[in-house]
Amino acid sequence: MNIGFIGLGNMGAPMAANLAAAGHVVKGFDLAAPCPEGVTKAETAAAAATGAEVVISMLPNGAILKSVAAEVIPAMAPGAVLCDCSTVDVESARDVAAQAGAAGLAALDAPVSGGVGGATAGTLTFMAGGPAAAFATVEPLFEIMGQKAVHCGDAGAGQSAKICNNMILGVTMIATCEAFALADKLGLDRQKMFDVVSTSSGQSWSMNTYCPAPGVGPQSPADNDYQPGFAAELMLKDLRLAQAAAEMVDADTPMGLAAEKLYARFVESEDGKGRDFSAMLPRFETRTRS
Ligand code: NAD
Repeated sequence: MNIGFIGLGNMGAPMAANLAAAGHVVKGFDLAAPCPEGVTKAETAAAAATGAEVVISMLPNGAILKSVAAEVIPAMAPGAVLCDCSTVDVESARDVAAQAGAAGLAALDAPVSGGVGGATAGTLTFMAGGPAAAFATVEPLFEIMGQKAVHCGDAGAGQSAKICNNMILGVTMIATCEAFALADKLGLDRQKMFDVVSTSSGQSWSMNTYCPAPGVGPQSPADNDYQPGFAAELMLKDLRLAQAAAEMVDADTPMGLAAEKLYARFVESEDGKGRDFSAMLPRFETRTRS
């Protein structure tokens, strides 16, 4: 396939490189980042999109996505698919789908789970919203860049799935960290805590796969001085998107709201910025109830 790829940062570069390595013709554009191996550099986003059957974007936020979409949609060929893999607000995803539809193009919002490691290894999970035919067109590319792709529903359904998942993740990570800090103060050994909880009803991905306690459970950022991993500020971004979506549809999400407030404090006025989101554990360790 001829593919245009816009946004070649930490995630986009390895994703585009995997598509090129699988034999696809990939033209890439980024305002700052260099093109990875196998990807041909385009001078503008519109040039990357010209002649492409699928245009993939991997950008920082919804405002940037909307400006890039406004530039590439007029350059795209009839029948081509615009597939945005960034994590953005549901409203922006739906706006872009409407713009693409008005121009006779199909759009997918297809955010990912799996981080830079998953992007590099080609083991991402894609959650997609948009027309079934567009999903079918892009599915072979999802199979190269990832290990699983779920068609979640209409435009915005992919972003909805992503922010609901990450709201659960933020909440369970906080719960896991505060429980470890409580266990410490009760004199409970961390390994024993892990052995019990990881096989009991308190288990979660945060405990079992990404344990925030160094030296306990499988290898995780906690074992590397909390170098991300998944940075606390990216978790904050996703929790803010979840709250924006909850406001849009008047959903009551008290735990998601509490998690957003805690990560905002951690990133903006404590030492959380640039650390993995599981560094909530050393934060709790040093605190008291007051
Ligand atoms: P990044 O900042 O490394 O990459 C974004 C790239 O977009 C940068 O290279 C930037 O130069 C480029 N860019 C910005 N504006 C542009 C424009 N107008 N035209 C072309 N290029 C432009 O970010 P990332 O870590 O690759 O994340 C990308 C998206 O993926 C985000 O939405 C993020 O939330 C999501 N995501 C990231 C992770 C992760 O672990 N990093 C995991 C899942 C999802």
